[in-house]
Amino acid sequence: MLTVDEARARLLAQARPVTGTETLGADAALGRVLAEALVSGVAVPPLDNSAMDGYALRVADWAAERWLHVTQRIPAGRVGHPLVLGTAARIFTGAPVPEGADAVAMQEDCELRDDHVRVLKAPTPGENIRRAGEDIRDGQAVLHAGERLTPARLGVAASIGATELAVYRRLRVAVFFTGDEIALPGRPLKPGQIYNSNRAMLLALFQGLGCEVEDLGQVADDLEATVAALKKAARHADVVVTSGGVSVGEEDHVKAAVARLGHLDMWKVAMKPGKPLAYGQVGDADFLGLPGNPVSAFVVFCLFVRPFLLKRMGAAGREPLAFTLPAAFERRKPGQRREFLRARVEQGRAVLYPNQSSGVLTSAAWADGLVDVEAGHTVHEGDDVRFWPLTELLK
Ligand code: AMP
Ligand code: MG
Repeated sequence: MLTVDEARARLLAQARPVTGTETLGADAALGRVLAEALVSGVAVPPLDNSAMDGYALRVADWAAERWLHVTQRIPAGRVGHPLVLGTAARIFTGAPVPEGADAVAMQEDCELRDDHVRVLKAPTPGENIRRAGEDIRDGQAVLHAGERLTPARLGVAASIGATELAVYRRLRVAVFFTGDEIALPGRPLKPGQIYNSNRAMLLALFQGLGCEVEDLGQVADDLEATVAALKKAARHADVVVTSGGVSVGEEDHVKAAVARLGHLDMWKVAMKPGKPLAYGQVGDADFLGLPGNPVSAFVVFCLFVRPFLLKRMGAAGREPLAFTLPAAFERRKPGQRREFLRARVEQGRAVLYPNQSSGVLTSAAWADGLVDVEAGHTVHEGDDVRFWPLTELLK
């Protein structure tokens, strides 16, 4: 048995980042992984500008009762004239501060009479001025290779005027679903059948990562059918993922099929749900075999598949953040394996979904995250537990 951390480290050591890159329009690059640093050719903001609607002035010209002549009006998008000594400029948020001015008094602190202004509060040098380059300096690397393009990063790229971005090519994932009992939604179930929930879930998870997904559909519990599906999947894919059929029963053919076509490692991981993790190679493709139980597939995806795929995509991922919360539950019987329990945060405490069976997928749909309980630990109400938000595990 491997610990979760050992298994993860082993798996990640096998993940070779893609090398192919392409240049994309920035508008089409959400979720993609940057392949080279993005260096700014401009300063942001380009000029000192006002952070407020108000009056630009020279601090030295200010006195408590002094009225300053307002000699110009500078709206955003225009450049004013150098400030005449002893005067003020009407100015608006985002407008360049005129040469000679060293403060902006916010209009709420000013009194206006005809074309003269009196500033009621003593201004301080630099007040309400956003400095040129305070966000980004000319020549600064604003984004780095390996960073995924989030909305804020796309905004930063736009802020320096970038229209095209060099990204790694999409990772190609092929997936199929084993089980004679599983049926696609869309028609009534026959006796003995259940709907295929892993397909909808996994396709969405791969899509969320920005992978190119090839869905090879459902494959019967039969060695030859599994071998044929695996061969087809491995032809174009970087990574082949399967659902079900990796346990020890005689209806589980995925392992034998992988072993026949390539190389297979079976890792027993001391975790619940999950446990068996099948990893291998078929041709040039990596192989990852997920358990059929939907909650196990979901948790194994979060803890193993996702970090593997991210590294494979060229992403330099940050570890997900975990939080410590008091438990709103009792778990008196220590488990033999580290458990990942579906939980919600209510009033600052971790509440468990009542049914923690690995077949109960509503637990994952309900959950905000996973409570992580080390093997051999009991949990009493009020004890601190580690909580992994799903937003972190899936970010
Ligand atoms: P297996 O890993 O093939 O032994 O399957 C374990 C359990 O998960 C069985 O109860 C299966 O019926 C169920 N299962 C397998 N594949 C799926 C799927 N795609 N959708 C929903 N349940 C599944
Ligand atoms: Mg099965």
